[in-house]
Amino acid sequence: MCCDNAVRNNDQKQFVEEVLFFPDAQIACKEFFVGDGCRRLNCRFTHEHNSLSRLYTFLADAKQSLDVCVFVICCADLGDLLVTAHKNNVRVRVICDDEQIDITGSQIWRLRKEGIPVRTDNSSYLMHHKFVVIDGTHLLTGSFNWTRQAISGNQENLVALRNMRIVSQFSSEFEKLWKEFDPKRYNESSLHRYEDLPVS
Ligand SMILES: [Zn+2]
Repeated sequence: MCCDNAVRNNDQKQFVEEVLFFPDAQIACKEFFVGDGCRRLNCRFTHEHNSLSRLYTFLADAKQSLDVCVFVICCADLGDLLVTAHKNNVRVRVICDDEQIDITGSQIWRLRKEGIPVRTDNSSYLMHHKFVVIDGTHLLTGSFNWTRQAISGNQENLVALRNMRIVSQFSSEFEKLWKEFDPKRYNESSLHRYEDLPVS
């Protein structure tokens, strides 16, 4: 298995329109692809490019903004990338389903604790989207939830696009939902869920 961190992204750095299919046969090593390099002696994650390694790269390459609108977010490695982006002054906003924020492994409270604003629907219907707008110019969308099961078990797809007509429609939808899910719009009885929601 390749262990040369210097060459890890050379042929994969550019954003190209493509479809990522899951499941991956192995979990990609986050540190190898987007961190400071993998220092594990016997890394149990793969250093071969796969769909998750591409997703890591897309998210880590954000320069200005990450608008994440995904039904369920439980994958800690993907949560790490949002926190890192936030710390690097990328504007990160997250929308997810209100019934998914307290499930096992949910990253939502951790993201909020780090100061990332997260909004949810306030409805018995599902906030079932799975898309991310990167820097207002690139889009990832498909069936893929941010869960370990989606990465290594489920049949899933994630389409990477930079067609501005399509990207701008998703951006507009995100802005519409962001306003709609503003906790200030909710009635008092549900405000307790948003006590530590960061000011955005
Ligand atoms: Zn590794």
